[in-house]
Amino acid sequence: MSKPSEAELKDFEAQADAWFKENTVTDPGFMLPLTFMEVSTDEQFDFLCDWQRKVYEAGYLGTSWPSEYGGHGMHPDFQRVATRAMKKYDGPIILNAIGIGWAGPLLMDIGSEEDKKKYIKGMLSAEDIWCQGFSEPEHGSDLGSAQLKAVRDGDEYVLNGSKIWTSLGDRAKYMILLARTSNDGPNKYAGLSFFLIPMKIPGIETRRIKKLTGEYGFVQTFFTDARVPAEGLVGKEGDGWMVAMKTLEYERGAKVNPAGGYYIKELDAMGVVDLARKAERAGKPLLDDPVMRDKMVEQMMEIQALNLNNQRRRMAPLNQDRPMGLAMMNKLARTEMIRDLTEFSLAFQGSRAGYYVGDENAVDDGYWHRSYLNSFSATIGGGTSEIQRNIVAEHVLGLPKGR
Ligand SMILES: Cc1cc2nc3c(=O)[nH]c(=O)nc-3n(C[C@H](O)[C@H](O)[C@H](O)COP(=O)(O)OP(=O)(O)OC[C@H]3O[C@@H](n4cnc5c(N)ncnc54)[C@H](O)[C@@H]3O)c2cc1C
Repeated sequence: MSKPSEAELKDFEAQADAWFKENTVTDPGFMLPLTFMEVSTDEQFDFLCDWQRKVYEAGYLGTSWPSEYGGHGMHPDFQRVATRAMKKYDGPIILNAIGIGWAGPLLMDIGSEEDKKKYIKGMLSAEDIWCQGFSEPEHGSDLGSAQLKAVRDGDEYVLNGSKIWTSLGDRAKYMILLARTSNDGPNKYAGLSFFLIPMKIPGIETRRIKKLTGEYGFVQTFFTDARVPAEGLVGKEGDGWMVAMKTLEYERGAKVNPAGGYYIKELDAMGVVDLARKAERAGKPLLDDPVMRDKMVEQMMEIQALNLNNQRRRMAPLNQDRPMGLAMMNKLARTEMIRDLTEFSLAFQGSRAGYYVGDENAVDDGYWHRSYLNSFSATIGGGTSEIQRNIVAEHVLGLPKGR
């Protein structure tokens, strides 16, 4: 596929811009989730499915994925332009993050022809929502020790065990699942297998878990003699660890998601500056406070550095020696930065910072308070900051293993 000219990209950008300007609804009359991980009500779910379908049908999701699987078959540069336009109008998030963000790219990389034909279009159109069954009650960071059992029985596998923190687990039609098919391998990783399984079958039940923010969005998933088709196995039995690690490259941002969209509302330092403009302390604008100004500038510089690092990821010569280095570092630095930024935003609000969403005294309807509470989950999901530090130390910097 040939690279588009500047004029073609500009033309496409103008179309995308006009479409998002006209179609983006920022306030549907109820609270929208900040991330795909906290969808609590049917109203939110239906609205976000509908939004994703509209964006897809307009050609701005799956823009560069092959048309035979449901994509729009264009050059990847068009997708980048479309996603930029989507963010510009601060629209609702794209819901099916696990589908089009990690499972889809994985299938495009290593999936069978049948799997691509069967699953990709439904992921893009939000007809089929996906979830991820990796973490278990005793094994989150130590994913290689996962214990949920999958035993082959003819054309099926029989599943027993439990997964936890399954985002969208109560809404999803399919799950990507890491399960133990053997205990006899040379190491714990050799006994794991990777499956694509249906969720709405006998033997699979979910129980909702409430979050710090009072919202829902993830569940504990229980498997009791659940029978799933053996054709859902991805790769060979026992190859699951390798497949799961490929999936995590997308989840942790080490590989760019080719389907586009964004799943988490991004905060930027200018939002905090706007907040400071409105705030006063002892009758004076807070924006004039030299200590606050100093901190604000520091944060703006840090965000700018992260954004530039993100662009450097696309420059192959800068990444040849450590292809995933910048992305791995970015996941850690960005999530920690957002925590710092939202905490700082509360400092502006003085005692009003204590008011939450729904309280008439809350600043900006409690947006900052909610963002602060949510910021903790980003430093845990997809690998905690401690684990990311280990990864950066060992795999990027080449330091010896800690333990
Ligand atoms: C909002 C949210 C959504 C999520 N969605 C999903 C999902 O859809 N599907 C899914 O499968 N999982 C999901 N998770 C789970 C997430 O991947 C795990 O919570 C995470 O991997 C950590 O595992 P854990 O909770 O078992 O903590 P543990 O592994 O028990 O860790 C507890 C603490 O010990 C530290 N620690 C553990 N091992 C080490 C080590 N070797 N070195 C240094 N420190 C260490 C950790 O960093 C952490 O601070 C989600 C989590 C969140 C917060």
